[in-house]
Amino acid sequence: MRKLIVASNNADKIKEIKEILKSIPVEILSLKEAGIGIDIEETGSTFRENAYLKAKGISEIVEGAMVLADDSGLAVESLGGAPGIYSARFAGEHGNSKKNNDKLLRTLEGKNAGERRASFICAMVLVLEDGRALDVEGRIDGIIAEKEKGANGFGYDPVFFLEEYGMTFAEMDSETKNKISHRAKALEKIKVEMQKLVGVV
Ligand code: IMP
Repeated sequence: MRKLIVASNNADKIKEIKEILKSIPVEILSLKEAGIGIDIEETGSTFRENAYLKAKGISEIVEGAMVLADDSGLAVESLGGAPGIYSARFAGEHGNSKKNNDKLLRTLEGKNAGERRASFICAMVLVLEDGRALDVEGRIDGIIAEKEKGANGFGYDPVFFLEEYGMTFAEMDSETKNKISHRAKALEKIKVEMQKLVGVV
């Protein structure tokens, strides 16, 4: 069976990927499971570039496996796409969601709904065993709420309001979020590509 190494050790991410790709006959491994301990620097200027750097960097040190990497974040239209690739450290400190959300709410204070439009974006790059790469993107649109609401999820979920659902991502159950999220949409596209690939080999 062909092998797919996911360039991540995030257990939730690996679980979600395994679930969505379960009908595809590939063995899915995290970096740890593949015995890979390196950390690739995200020096790109777009989500796609960062996903490519991670996938390519891992692919170069393994033999006979496909590699999948993703990079995601929040883009607010009226802020020129910020926080974008800096989503995890918008307020300066890596991974401090409370500070990131506070900064975002302060930045948008007094702005109307149009100016609060935002999207979560997820770029995924799949590098094949022979080094060829293909990429996809998933996105979901919403509005930055005026205050945090909800306790589920992570990151910007409490401030990301989905008009069609009338709630923030943090108020939504994880099963629904994982069906409609930017990551789920990118993964569905990867699934289509993988079905073609595994079908022809
Ligand atoms: P990563 O590329 O998946 O590690 O995501 C980078 C950053 O984007 C995270 O640290 C979060 O701040 C933000 N982010 C990405 N996806 C989500 C999401 O589904 N909900 C909330 N925040 C997210």
